[in-house]
Amino acid sequence: MHYETRYCTHCATPLQWVIQAEDGGDVSRLRCPECGWTHWNNPTPVLAAIVELDGKVLLARNAAWPEKVFGLITGFMEAGESPEEGVAREVAEETGLQAESLELISVHEFLRMNQVIIAFHVRASGQVRLSPELLEYRLLEPEKVQAWPSGTGMALAKWLRSRGHDPVIRDFWKRAEQAQEAEASRADQDTAAGLSRDAA
Ligand SMILES: [Zn+2]
Repeated sequence: MHYETRYCTHCATPLQWVIQAEDGGDVSRLRCPECGWTHWNNPTPVLAAIVELDGKVLLARNAAWPEKVFGLITGFMEAGESPEEGVAREVAEETGLQAESLELISVHEFLRMNQVIIAFHVRASGQVRLSPELLEYRLLEPEKVQAWPSGTGMALAKWLRSRGHDPVIRDFWKRAEQAQEAEASRADQDTAAGLSRDAA
């Protein structure tokens, strides 16, 4: 579901697009005409973990994702925690693993979701127990890991290169979408064939 901020969070007045002088010049933003509150719409920090367990990289598939699309462990940073605490918490919640050491790899924009991805390498220990949010996981030798062209994938590629690997970059989402389209078009053809048989 796509949420939209429409009302002032302080006084519940409907927001309006208002041009106002800011440090960088005149800027149009959603603002409250009553109390002056501004909806800055700042990006949300998202923590991502390249989880390493016994020398292998753990990639997981979200329950909402298509088949064969795997990614890093991610989650929203929460109020009152450091990025390191947050990423260790997410790894524990989503995989049941304990973070033994953390290293910041990179920070990327994710414009479509208005997020900023803060990616860590997390050396972990323990037994994998996935949260219901995740459907399945893979533990891969680093040299067999492929990356993908988005913030989390670029962080993974950077980390792999720092280990002397040269990962293939592949757009798993695009491939999954193409596969779904091909499936849908096959289904359409089947339906069309069925219809023409009925007509005959
Ligand atoms: Zn207001």
